[in-house]
Amino acid sequence: MISVAPMQSMAHLKMQTCPRRMHDFGPWDRKPFQDEWRDDDTCSFCGSLNPVTLMRRLEAGDVALTPTDKTYKLYVENQGGAQFKQTYRTDHDQSGDQTKWEWTTREVSQAKFYFQHLDEGQMARFVELFNQRKLKLKYPGYFYATPYFMSLGPVPSI
Ligand SMILES: [Zn+2]
Repeated sequence: MISVAPMQSMAHLKMQTCPRRMHDFGPWDRKPFQDEWRDDDTCSFCGSLNPVTLMRRLEAGDVALTPTDKTYKLYVENQGGAQFKQTYRTDHDQSGDQTKWEWTTREVSQAKFYFQHLDEGQMARFVELFNQRKLKLKYPGYFYATPYFMSLGPVPSI
């Protein structure tokens, strides 16, 4: 029989390490498990949509992707599924005291996503969906900055 330690709370499930914290330049600590998936389904460090949600939406085919000039970023637009959520500060206080900050969550049609949040399996599946032409790419209809984990073959000459 396998014994499983009782869970104290579900909170730890939300803790994560934002890959951008660990790799980007910045004045912040490069320590794991400082970040969490917020209630609005975004990374508390970089604001990226949760990769699990992105992959689920890509499988469902109810989102379109807008490429950017960054190899690590795209925008995800709702097309017939649930709206995304965005949390932002609504107090006008310049206080450094975070307990005084007020937050509001609203529904939005678009979310941003940073590829650094994909694990290897998710990257492989993303490429698979791309190759099967199951990704809906918005203007200009292709990745003009190729996602850093993909390599596109040579463009056939016409
Ligand atoms: Zn992040």
